[in-house]
Amino acid sequence: MQTHFPPALLENPDMAQSEKILRACVHCGFCTATCPTFLLTGDELDSPRGRIYLIKEMLENGRPADARITRHLDRCLSCLGCMTTCPSGVNYMHLVDHARVHVEKTYARPLPERALRSALAFVLARPVWFRLGLRLSALARPLQGLLPQRLAAMLALAPGETPPASSVDRPQVFPAQGARRLRVALLNGCAQQALDPAINEATVRLLTRFGVEVVVAEGAGCCGALAHHLGKTEASRDFAARNIDAWTREIETEGLDRIVINTSGCGTTVKDYGLMFRNDPALSKAAAHVASIARDVSEVLAELAVPWPAAPAKLRIAYHSACSLQHGQKITQEPIALLEAAGFEALAVPEGHICCGSAGTYNLLQPELAEALQRRKVANIETLSADAVVAGNLGCITQIAAGTNIPVLHLVELLDWASGGPKPAKLSGGA
Ligand code: SF4
Ligand code: SF4
Repeated sequence: MQTHFPPALLENPDMAQSEKILRACVHCGFCTATCPTFLLTGDELDSPRGRIYLIKEMLENGRPADARITRHLDRCLSCLGCMTTCPSGVNYMHLVDHARVHVEKTYARPLPERALRSALAFVLARPVWFRLGLRLSALARPLQGLLPQRLAAMLALAPGETPPASSVDRPQVFPAQGARRLRVALLNGCAQQALDPAINEATVRLLTRFGVEVVVAEGAGCCGALAHHLGKTEASRDFAARNIDAWTREIETEGLDRIVINTSGCGTTVKDYGLMFRNDPALSKAAAHVASIARDVSEVLAELAVPWPAAPAKLRIAYHSACSLQHGQKITQEPIALLEAAGFEALAVPEGHICCGSAGTYNLLQPELAEALQRRKVANIETLSADAVVAGNLGCITQIAAGTNIPVLHLVELLDWASGGPKPAKLSGGA
């Protein structure tokens, strides 16, 4: 695609990066076929190609964002399905991230919208606040039918009971059982601690059982993805910088072989820290190193090549491949291979490349489109007559579970059970 950026604009490194991405797009439109929002609305401006045009027009002409472009960018899930489909290697992720920052800086959203986005960026990233928010949501649940659509959607996703904080999520070191094979830091995250602490508990049991020393580093927390996707670049960089500092302290003292992430939406962001801080002389080297040792938990388990005992039950498992895992990190085979090795029957979900509608805060901010995608995903899952659904991302687990009675678990919960851990409560009819 031809571009006509004035040279002065290209002195900004982010603008220069976006211009390079725009030039790579040949406008072929292959990406439209797999874009969930285009499939739903049929509007070219809700397709990757249409959005790329809108972004080009806005950035190249140094224009502030307007309501039209903001609407179409807000409708983008950042699922990155278009990046998997694109034959020209267009890095839509970095382009839309830059465009969102531009929108945030140049467009004055209506006040309620601004307040909601700021509240989400603040509360979801802080487990203590989020837990409080979940408790208030439970109290407000009887009023759900009377509330505006967005607030009703939030209540629908909140669990009936808020689980208590887990001791696993405090800063500490979990020694490896037997000979130590790896020393890793676990990103224990933010929303996951509040919504489903069983996932971090299962991750620690599983890794330590197979000879991995697990550190929950003092000072590490939210990866910054939630703020990042809301275009709040400063907040996002603050979270990321705190993690980089916390993990670098560990690297420089006891050493770290890997940083393990069990929420793939966060993994995509941590793996991008090197790029996020590439122009920061104080942090660029540490950020690049952190990114280089960041791994999804399924990658680390595959690397360990552990012998799995016989499965505790021959279950049919619908494997939902989170967009951030399959499109963002290109991890498609490891989780299926692990499930099969542990004795489960792994079933691919039809239309598996299409997002479930969770997408960070998308299901809270765009409930209509998110619900349509949730219904489509659940209908596809229910064709499989599976005993349970497994995914590697909390957002997907919450989104899918809100639309079906089939238990929806994290991969590590099943693998932990298969290797000697407790049976997941969700399979016993619990939480
Ligand atoms: S598939 Fe790639 S090159 Fe083609 S229109 Fe989409 S982003 Fe551009
Ligand atoms: S990230 Fe997903 S929703 Fe956004 S343009 Fe690409 S395919 Fe469409």
